[in-house]
Amino acid sequence: MGHYDKHQLTIMTTTQCNMHCVYCLTKARKNGNAYRIDETFARTIIRDYLLSCDRPWIRFYGAGEATIEIDMIKRLIDYADSISTVPIYYELQTNGFFSLDVADYIGHKFNIVYVSIDGAPNINDRQRLSNNDKSTSEIVVRNIKLLNKMTTLGVRATITVLNVDKQREIVDYFSSLGIKFMFSKPVLPSVGSNENLEYAVPLMTYAENYLDAYRYAKNKGIFYGNIYIVNFDRKTDTFCRACHPYPHATPDNYVSCCDRAFLSNIGLDELLYGHYDVKSGSIVYDYDKIRKICNRKIQNMTKCVNCSVNEFCGGACLGTAYQRNGDFYVPYDKECEVIRYLYDEIGNDVVLGFFHP
Ligand code: SF4
Ligand code: SF4
Ligand code: SF4
Repeated sequence: MGHYDKHQLTIMTTTQCNMHCVYCLTKARKNGNAYRIDETFARTIIRDYLLSCDRPWIRFYGAGEATIEIDMIKRLIDYADSISTVPIYYELQTNGFFSLDVADYIGHKFNIVYVSIDGAPNINDRQRLSNNDKSTSEIVVRNIKLLNKMTTLGVRATITVLNVDKQREIVDYFSSLGIKFMFSKPVLPSVGSNENLEYAVPLMTYAENYLDAYRYAKNKGIFYGNIYIVNFDRKTDTFCRACHPYPHATPDNYVSCCDRAFLSNIGLDELLYGHYDVKSGSIVYDYDKIRKICNRKIQNMTKCVNCSVNEFCGGACLGTAYQRNGDFYVPYDKECEVIRYLYDEIGNDVVLGFFHP
């Protein structure tokens, strides 16, 4: 189940959020850049996507908190179900901070749900706060327990200086909640003024602690993944859906290839390959950009051609490469170091029974 094989349409409903995490990068709303996706655009891209695939998979994601727009999500799902000739697989990425009614709908309608939580309340409530600075763990954990009984559930922890060396404890806590699939993502050192240096961890420090916790989790029957190992169990020349590209409909009505390019005005222009034309009610695509994105394969990337792990990496995260180096064909060296380290240690025994978020 390589990450490159996760083929889906992503709908980003809004930049708004009902939480404010200390490391949040979706600063757009704070700068007056609040966006909500045009529902007609969302319907148009759903229709176009369903016409072009046999195994439809629709994912709802932020770039703020997707469920802020739960009523729109319900309408879009009803619309998609009404025009699809086959069942649609639905995925949600969420902060889990919602009412029981919303949880009940999600549990019944979504095939897979990923909830963000950074460990036990003593850590999670320092990093993931409500908009009025209150703790969020009680509600999020309640919903995790409920959803874990109703559908397939994975959790994702953001790793900072506060919890980088507590990954075993995080495994223990999630295990106590009955969770079988967990993931983590480190807050990276700053690439620009919009990133939060205070919480960032050196990548190798993250990786060494992750490796220890991965083995610990495995012994407890829990899969613990991250973005660096996502293609370890199958050969590929591409990294992820971004390189096909599979569409991500942004809250400001663009089509991007990557979660990272969640708005049109954040400097990741080359990852935006379409926009919604309100007058014609159609999506206009830029085929030159699509061609460049499609050609992002290890054989076309100078650093990857002779890399020892290239077939089990696929070129690493395109969004990170673009942010770090200004060129999405040039991977981030520190990520490469981590990928090679983890492949040497666990490349032969990773079984990805579950897709990465
Ligand atoms: S839940 Fe996500 S979008 Fe909301 S503040 Fe936290 S990191 Fe940002
Ligand atoms: S952020 Fe990285 S892993 Fe996620 S869609 Fe973009 S390229 Fe793929
Ligand atoms: S580890 Fe780095 S150099 Fe090697 S294939 Fe992956 S992205 Fe390319």
